[in-house]
Amino acid sequence: FHPRTKVTTESIFSRMSRLALQHGAINLGQGFPSNPPPGFLLEAARRALGRVDQYTPPPGLPALREALAEDLGVTPEQVIVTAGATEALSSLADSLYGEGDEVVMLEPYFDAYLPQTLMVGAKPVLVPMRLQPTDSGSPGGGWELDLEALEAAITPRSKVLLLNSPYNPTGSVFSREELEAIVALARRHDLWVISDEVYDELYFGAPPTPLRTLAPERVFTVGSAGKRLEATGWRIGWIVTPPGLAPEVAGMRQWSSFCSAAPLQAAVAEALPLARAEGFYAELRESYGRRKDLLAQGLRGMGLEVFEPQGTYFLTVRMPEIGAEVLVQEARVAIIPGSAFYASSPPPQGLYRFAFCKTADDIEQALERLERFL
Ligand code: GLN
Repeated sequence: FHPRTKVTTESIFSRMSRLALQHGAINLGQGFPSNPPPGFLLEAARRALGRVDQYTPPPGLPALREALAEDLGVTPEQVIVTAGATEALSSLADSLYGEGDEVVMLEPYFDAYLPQTLMVGAKPVLVPMRLQPTDSGSPGGGWELDLEALEAAITPRSKVLLLNSPYNPTGSVFSREELEAIVALARRHDLWVISDEVYDELYFGAPPTPLRTLAPERVFTVGSAGKRLEATGWRIGWIVTPPGLAPEVAGMRQWSSFCSAAPLQAAVAEALPLARAEGFYAELRESYGRRKDLLAQGLRGMGLEVFEPQGTYFLTVRMPEIGAEVLVQEARVAIIPGSAFYASSPPPQGLYRFAFCKTADDIEQALERLERFL
């Protein structure tokens, strides 16, 4: 094998899902909903099967590029459909950086960012977020962006700033002021910005500002139909490029999977305007908000420190340090150890990420099991 195979092992999310299955644990680890996707999406897919079954152009089914452009306020030419946000990120890695380049990202980081950077021979540079106690009144739910540290991490080799807001795993959402400061910094150092916004419709306070609206000339946005429409296994994601820059990225993307599943692209194209018109995202926020509160209250009731998320369907808790594998085997609850999101600085002790995109029943049962165990 090529030495690059050494940069990666089984993802923490697949690992915990596998162990959850093996031990009959409740899976509050990997972030995928336990309910089926909405009926209007499934019906659209049924109509598309047998009708839209052959290759689409590599940048995507025209109807989906148009629907996304309408939804996101960009032009169809800026949109590239990918096999999930994961392929969107790897296509951007292929297109924007390689040997000798540095990619600046925040720590804790979403797991794919590190191997994807290493696989193209670039160097990840991790900038730790500052973790404040939850009672500090920090708007980031405990995590604060350290702008000075971010700027200090930039070198002449820095090529890209890779950001995630709403932020998995912290659950924080960067404010407009923070985003403006980030954009100013990217302009000063002439960096591309990759803004991973797969949880763009999943927030509990003010709606997040899409970063591309502040710097259309340098921001590549990554999005996900799986996250928006509760169908993470469909693998329909997208990239929005700055105007005029899609052809090169689409050119790279065509050599990984050529195009995404055609009937599912057609279904998402139909579902996107419906989701808006029918207030689907608002309903989703409400329903997730209830499950977030249920989980947070339960955990606080056990005397645990809860970092209240402003977005995403993840919540972090500080608990006594117990191995996540012990928890899945003995308490039969699968959660993600916070240490999985740290590589450069020592991980804060006893942090665990819970996914609350599961049924209220599952959340309640997981709370009971955990309480018995702790
Ligand atoms: N986004 C999901 C999570 O953070 C998992 C993504 C994946 O497993 N590819 O749990």
